[in-house]
Amino acid sequence: MKYALVTGGSRGIGRAICQRLALSGYHVLINYVSNEAKALETLELTKQAGVEGEIIKFDVANLEETTAALEKWQSDNKDAYIDVLVNNAGVTADSLLPMMEPEAWSKVLNITINGFFNVTRTVVKKMIRKKHGRIINMASVSGIIGLPGQCNYSAAKGALISATKALSKEVGGKNITVNAVAPGFIKTDMTESLNEEELKKGIALGRFGTAEEVADLVDFLASDKASYITGETIAITGGLKG
Ligand code: NAP
Repeated sequence: MKYALVTGGSRGIGRAICQRLALSGYHVLINYVSNEAKALETLELTKQAGVEGEIIKFDVANLEETTAALEKWQSDNKDAYIDVLVNNAGVTADSLLPMMEPEAWSKVLNITINGFFNVTRTVVKKMIRKKHGRIINMASVSGIIGLPGQCNYSAAKGALISATKALSKEVGGKNITVNAVAPGFIKTDMTESLNEEELKKGIALGRFGTAEEVADLVDFLASDKASYITGETIAITGGLKG
């Protein structure tokens, strides 16, 4: 049995990734922080792919909680190991910098970049021992070009892209690939309040993307077909006009 952990797997892009990886035969660990009902819905959807999965609750921003949950899972599943890790959990808390509350700054940084550290430091150890693994970090086009009102989010996603490059060089010799995916505007709860009619004028394909389109890219990066791709950030924006 192959195991994959998707942080923030209860909704949106994370849910679509869980479903797609289940179709590829993975037993998926669906992480969430608060929305158990949605996580259970995702579990049902992955079971429709014919593979058992499970939900696993922890706040990626909390090192102790994350480590305890992952170590408990490992001790309950001694022979198993997580071969695919998708660091997908993320939030926005937009505002122009002079008006940004310190909490909005810290929250976005903590969940995105501390979350990456908190989860990956545990999971990568066993990948190193097994000499195989795939780590896929959900960045954003905001972390590449920077977007106004998102200094916190752009900083967090930019840091995630840099960490992706650094870690890929640390673990490449152990046959572990580390890549980032940088979506543009994707239709999920996160983008619900945005003015899609206006924003889509700036997208070559003239529409927001779907979570499933991002999930297909993640599934490719997790597969053997992507075995020679590492340290990269792959944008999926529908041709966002700079
Ligand atoms: P979403 O629909 O708002 O879902 C967010 C997910 O993250 C939920 O499953 C949520 O769990 C989980 N989460 C939030 N804080 C967490 C924490 N502290 N610990 C564990 N899980 C946590 O967001 P989305 O649009 O699917 O975004 C997914 C990822 O793609 C994020 O990293 C986001 O930055 C990135 N992204 C999105 C877009 C876009 O246009 N949507 C574009 C670029 C990048 P609960 O259900 O328990 O709250």
